[in-house]
Amino acid sequence: MMYYTHLAFGILVSLFSITFFNINNKYIFILVAVMFSIFPDIDEKKSKIGRENKIISTIINFMFGHRGFIHSIYIPLILYLVFYYINKEIGVAVLTGYFSHLFMDALTKQGIRPLAPLINKKINGLIKTNSLLEKTFFLIIILLILYLLLVSL
Ligand SMILES: [Zn+2]
Repeated sequence: MMYYTHLAFGILVSLFSITFFNINNKYIFILVAVMFSIFPDIDEKKSKIGRENKIISTIINFMFGHRGFIHSIYIPLILYLVFYYINKEIGVAVLTGYFSHLFMDALTKQGIRPLAPLINKKINGLIKTNSLLEKTFFLIIILLILYLLLVSL
């Protein structure tokens, strides 16, 4: 998935989470969730976040590869536990953003290995990254965000 699809989906899931978890600091919640909805692609040098953090991205890619450990469920769960003790809402935001990324990547043909490197079973869908189908998804997500913002006014 392209970074902007992850970003849009991160916002959409944040809006649902704010209501669901009764979040007080809404803007900080969205900001943190959106950051973590893009973060996992740090393991790919050619991704937007990878290009912006070339050295870190190269090291992480060398160590774990793309869509390996960094795209597993272990990292968000560890980050959640760490952030939860600092601030409960930040912890939930990290989890929301990270899982929104993993969910969207699981819909792509390339898929993810959510339990890597312990278990290498892959889950994947049918969407090709940067295809018309992804762009259609992106558009639907944007429309849903606008709808949610309008009804909340
Ligand atoms: Zn990814």
